[in-house]
Amino acid sequence: MSTPSSVSDVGEHALIALIRDRVPPAPSWVAVGLGDDAAVVEPERNLLEVFTTDALVEGIHFDRAFTPPWAIGHRALAVNLSDVAAMGATPRLALLSLVLPPALPVTEFTALLDGLLALAACHRVRLVGGNITRSPGPLMVDITATGSVHRRRVLRRSGARPGDEVWVSGQLGAAAAGLASLQTAVVRDPAYAGCEAAFLAPEPRVRLGTLLGRNRAASACVDLSDGLADGLHQLAAASAVGIEVDSAAIPIAPAAEAWFTALGQDAVLAAVTGGDDYELLFTVSPRARRRFLTVRHQLGDLPLTRIGTVGTMPDVVWTREGRRERVPSGYVHFR
Ligand SMILES: [Mg+2]
Repeated sequence: MSTPSSVSDVGEHALIALIRDRVPPAPSWVAVGLGDDAAVVEPERNLLEVFTTDALVEGIHFDRAFTPPWAIGHRALAVNLSDVAAMGATPRLALLSLVLPPALPVTEFTALLDGLLALAACHRVRLVGGNITRSPGPLMVDITATGSVHRRRVLRRSGARPGDEVWVSGQLGAAAAGLASLQTAVVRDPAYAGCEAAFLAPEPRVRLGTLLGRNRAASACVDLSDGLADGLHQLAAASAVGIEVDSAAIPIAPAAEAWFTALGQDAVLAAVTGGDDYELLFTVSPRARRRFLTVRHQLGDLPLTRIGTVGTMPDVVWTREGRRERVPSGYVHFR
């Protein structure tokens, strides 16, 4: 049997052809898509364009020992779509910059593409360009994504006002527990398969973000890439307000609670400071309450939980075990 070919055997042009063959035909608003020096896009009238970029780097954001290639592709796009959604925008297109170790098998390259394009298809995101470069070390997937949103529908971090309710989507802590399980477990325990899936294939809350924006139901919004604690501090600082958190209301994934408790850790603390949740944290003003109920109705079964209230105090606080204290800051990338 011949050895499976690596990306360096195949070469850049053939890899790009592999991508082009897989991308569905461009819609009419893409005037020039894949295959030219740059993409040309026709902006829609009365819509603002949202831009974001985020890279996944092997050894920092994932370990190829336990992150399958499809999950690398999925995550790389998901983290960008989560940022677009947090702005209340509908994701539209993506640019993909791949930095590949030459020995990467072509089968892994195509699997990475599978994960990325499957999520793109889910959210009707068009891949319109990119680049492939050789890496002297780690695999890197760098994506730029755009979205569109009406001027008055943009969700920012800075709109929270005293008296607003604080809400969060989904359940927290599963991705952090899943990553810990993937990193440490010698034998996979099926009880934590859901947590591992939450880390490997996070679901960006695209529908929630666009519905909150379209209905003007949220006064401020941020996505939880670095955990709930970090999101609360980011939102409070940007809005120049304080937040009183009801720690008992924080929705922690039951399997994550089991994981952290089994290790003798404080499950609430671990869940709010662990990253990679990609849920949305947002505030709802009393005036927007009815519009928010409409959003909840349209959303279906994604859980939304009220976890606190915006106030005039200068910080983010909660009461735990009878003590009122500052919510700790979350995950920090450069420490
Ligand atoms: Mg973000």
